[in-house]
Amino acid sequence: MEFFLAITTLNDFIFCPYSIYLHEIYNYTKEDTYHSKSQSKGRRLHDFIENDTNPNDWKSAFVYSEKLKIYGKIDDYDTANRELIEYKSTVATAFKGYYYQIWAQYLCLSEMGIIVEKLAFYDFRVSKKIEIPLPSNDQLLELECHVRKVQQYDFNSEIKINPNKCRRCIYQNLCEKVNF
Ligand code: SF4
Repeated sequence: MEFFLAITTLNDFIFCPYSIYLHEIYNYTKEDTYHSKSQSKGRRLHDFIENDTNPNDWKSAFVYSEKLKIYGKIDDYDTANRELIEYKSTVATAFKGYYYQIWAQYLCLSEMGIIVEKLAFYDFRVSKKIEIPLPSNDQLLELECHVRKVQQYDFNSEIKINPNKCRRCIYQNLCEKVNF
């Protein structure tokens, strides 16, 4: 059976592979069972995206790549400007995972025959769009290697605990790997 990977896991994997497991578990719980501050922030960001009714924009559209075996949802594709925009609560630090996500979406759209000429992050905290270059061939190769790494990862293997990351993790109160 073919295994398609969710694009969001490309970022989560860099942060901590175990967070992917916890995300899957708590994704299916009721909001009042577990809903952290960060998740509430994510919900507000999602509402903000959904409430923008510009008819030129494709919001939350599903995309996939047969070649890379990945799928996901884009935040916003501005058809007038052929610009793909990924919303983040903040991009003060643009983590590598953010780039993998938007490059993956770009690749999916391109494979689906949609022309993308521009890429940008939108920083929700400061209400600012930050344009970034289209990925080079080397960067697309790097993305492909990362996708294969996640697809082939053994989730039963030991994870390296990074206390600094755990302190920022939205699952820290629920994760049995840490005990603060
Ligand atoms: S609390 Fe730490 S070990 Fe647990 S999922 Fe988060 S980052 Fe990973």
